[in-house]
Amino acid sequence: MNAQNKKPPQSGTLYVVATPIGNLDDLSRRAIETLKKVDLIACEDTRHSRRLLQAHGIDTPLVSHHQHNEHQSAPELIRKLQAGDNIAIISDAGTPLISDPGFTLVRQAHAEKIPVSPVPGASAAIALLSASGLPTDSFRFVGFPPAKASQRRARLSQLRDDPSTLVFYESSHRIADSLQDMVAQLGQDRLATLGRELTKTFETIRHGTLAELSEWVRHDPNQQKGEFVLAVNGHTATISNDISEEQKALASLLKRELPPKKAAKLAAAHHQGNAKAIYQWLIST
Ligand code: SAM
Repeated sequence: MNAQNKKPPQSGTLYVVATPIGNLDDLSRRAIETLKKVDLIACEDTRHSRRLLQAHGIDTPLVSHHQHNEHQSAPELIRKLQAGDNIAIISDAGTPLISDPGFTLVRQAHAEKIPVSPVPGASAAIALLSASGLPTDSFRFVGFPPAKASQRRARLSQLRDDPSTLVFYESSHRIADSLQDMVAQLGQDRLATLGRELTKTFETIRHGTLAELSEWVRHDPNQQKGEFVLAVNGHTATISNDISEEQKALASLLKRELPPKKAAKLAAAHHQGNAKAIYQWLIST
């Protein structure tokens, strides 16, 4: 075959593989098979990942790919994928790219039309949400709040009116301070669920108001140890406060001729109001 007829090599696949967040048994069978069959595993800390992989009899070569080298190491991994290698990316715990490295590599893979395939599994945010007892139909993953107190307070204040459940990661050094700032910025009565050491021996899940959780953590040093994820109820508008007198008057008038939903929608559009809140008010009067 001459050079002109030679087909370019088919590129390999980049697998984004979730690993456990504590309990080693949470590595799925498909994750184990994928990690065994790929040519290379890109991981944050080779020594840390080797322990996990050895426990599952996986001896695939590892290459380090972490937040400080991902811009240099991504192009080399892309070249290998283009040459036909299959590569898996894992992080120290949980799902890569979720407050973890991998974004640069995945984005570059898409730009180069390299197939990217997830092998899903644990993530602390989703694990806590599922057990939090807070609304899960709409949530906002915030990740780590800023470490600096003034920036953290500013960020929390931006989130105050968000109606979605808010999900935060936090470290043991800052959990007490962060909770205190949340009480001040989001309100002491907001319901929240704190997850500590999920899937591990000292797993603790506590549900209460932000004020209660903050007090509990502050007064018990044991509750300041380990890894934390926190879900906080979104902002809930109190219906009557949300609706002006003009909105009420117009909505009531329109309701004489229209179904309440339509009346609420028109009144909200006319007076820049919240159609849902006006509707709730209309049907309760
Ligand atoms: N990629 C991971 C994931 O999918 O959950 C998150 C990595 S991030 C660097 C690490 C943070 O996740 C921890 O500081 C903590 O806030 C949270 N986290 C990880 N494992 C946890 C666990 N077992 N229990 C509670 N929080 C955890």
